Amino acid sequence: MNFISTRGASPPVGFIDALLAGLAPDGGLYCPETWPRLTPDEIAGLAGRPYAEVAARILGLFAGDEIPVEVLADLCAKAYASFDHPAVTPLVQLGPDRFLLELFHGPTLAFKDVAMQILARLYAYVLAARGRTMTIVCATSGDTGGAAVEAFRGLDQVRIVAMFPHGRISEVQRRFMTTAAEDNVRTLAVDGDFDDCQAILKSLFEDDAFARSVDLSAVNSINFARIIAQSVYYFTAAVALGAPGRPARFAVPTGNFGDAFAGYAARLMGLPIERILVAVNTNDIMARALTTGDYRRGAATATQSPAMDIQVASNFERLLFECSGRDAVLVAEAFRAFAAHGAMTVPPAALAAMGEVFDAVAVDETLTGRTIAETLARTGELVDPHTAVAVAGADHARVTTSGAPLIVVSTAHPAKFPEAVTAAAGVSPPPPAAVLARAGAPERIDRLPADVEAVKRYVRDFVGA
Ligand SMILES: *Cc1c(COP(=O)(O)O)cnc(C)c1O
Repeated sequence: MNFISTRGASPPVGFIDALLAGLAPDGGLYCPETWPRLTPDEIAGLAGRPYAEVAARILGLFAGDEIPVEVLADLCAKAYASFDHPAVTPLVQLGPDRFLLELFHGPTLAFKDVAMQILARLYAYVLAARGRTMTIVCATSGDTGGAAVEAFRGLDQVRIVAMFPHGRISEVQRRFMTTAAEDNVRTLAVDGDFDDCQAILKSLFEDDAFARSVDLSAVNSINFARIIAQSVYYFTAAVALGAPGRPARFAVPTGNFGDAFAGYAARLMGLPIERILVAVNTNDIMARALTTGDYRRGAATATQSPAMDIQVASNFERLLFECSGRDAVLVAEAFRAFAAHGAMTVPPAALAAMGEVFDAVAVDETLTGRTIAETLARTGELVDPHTAVAVAGADHARVTTSGAPLIVVSTAHPAKFPEAVTAAAGVSPPPPAAVLARAGAPERIDRLPADVEAVKRYVRDFVGA
C-alpha cells in the first residue's frame, strides 16, 4: 500500500516510510492511495475475535506488503497484553442503546496508549530491521508524553525526549513521564506554555541539518499509523453491538481530531457508522468548522479537559482532503491561507460531504461538571472531564434518533483528573495501581527556557551521550 500527501507535492511512500516520517515533505499528511474496504461478511467475521487479532487484521490492510502478517500479529498481541482488561477496550452500558467505550485500560490510563503501544513496537521492529536508531521529541500537554514514554522506554533503537510546559500539567500526568528510570528517556520541563513547546518542536524539524544529525522523528497524531491503530476500536465496538447488520453512532471528545478521524477512516473501510458526533470543550474550532465551514484559529483557553485545549485540529486536513474528492490543490491552497491568515473557508460541497457523517457540539465548563455529577447519579459511572464533554454532547446535540446504538468514546480514567472529578462529583476516584506505583518514585526532570537553541544543544548532548 502506498501513501500520498494531502498536498499532492510529495512522492508516494510505503507504510514504513510514512510511519517514520510522520509529516510528508510538502507539509501535508499521509493518506492511503486508496482505502481498503472490508465486505460485510469480513466485518461480521471480526465479531468475538480477540482485540489484538482485529488490530493485526486492520493494520495488515495497510502494512501487510512490508511487514509480514505473523510479525504484525505478534506485535499486536504484545501491545495489547499491556492492557488490564481482557477486552482491551470494553463497552459499558449507560442506558438503553447508550454505551461507553472505555479506552483507558492501558498502562497510562489514557486512550493515547491504544495507538502508542503498537506504534513503539512497530518502530522497534522496523528500525532494528534497517539497523537505524531515531530520536523522538514529543511536545505534550499531558497525556501523549506519558503514553509515549511508557511505550518507548527501554527500546534500544529509540531515544525519547518528552517536553512539557513547566508547572502546567497535573502531578499524575508528570509522574507518568518523569519516573521512568531507563537511559533512553529524558524529560524536559520548558519555561513556557504548550504552544511554546509545539513551536520549539516545529523549529527542530524545520532545521533540516539538525533533524538529520539526530535522526529526529515525531509521534503526534499526524502519524498515519496512529489513526489506523485507533480505527480498530470502532470496528470492535460496532461489531459487538450488531454491525454490520446494525449500524452504530459514535460521540467523540475531540481536540486534534485524530480520534474522530479514525472513526471516519473505519467508515471509509466499510464499517456502517451512521453518524459521528464531534464534542469539544470551549476550544471549539472543530465545532465552528463543521457547522459553519469557517475553520479559524482562536486563542486556547484552559479547561477541565486539558487534552482538548487545542485551537488548531491537525487532522482536519485529512478530512478536507477526503471530503473535497481528494483535491490536493484545493487542500494545499486552503492550508496556505490558514498558515497566512489563521482562517480558511471550507468549500460548500466539502462542507456538505462532512455533514453527511458529522454532527458537532461545543460543551461549556458548567455543563461538563454537571454531567460528571449527573452521570454518576444516573448510571453509577464516574467519568473523566473529557468523556463528560462527549456524554453531554450526546445528550444535548440533536443527534438523529435512528435506533442505532450510540457509543460514547471514553478517553481517560477519572483518576487521571482527580481534582476536576472530585470538584464536580464530590467523590474522588480511587487511584489505580499505575498511579500509586509512581506516587513516591524518584523523578528525573531537566529544565530549560523556551529557547530553540538551548533545546537543540540538549538533544545533541543526549544523542552524543
Ligand atoms: C488526546 C485526548 C483527546 C483528544 O483526542 P484527539 O485525537 O486529539 O481529538 C481526548 N481526551 C483525552 C483524554 C486525550 O488524551
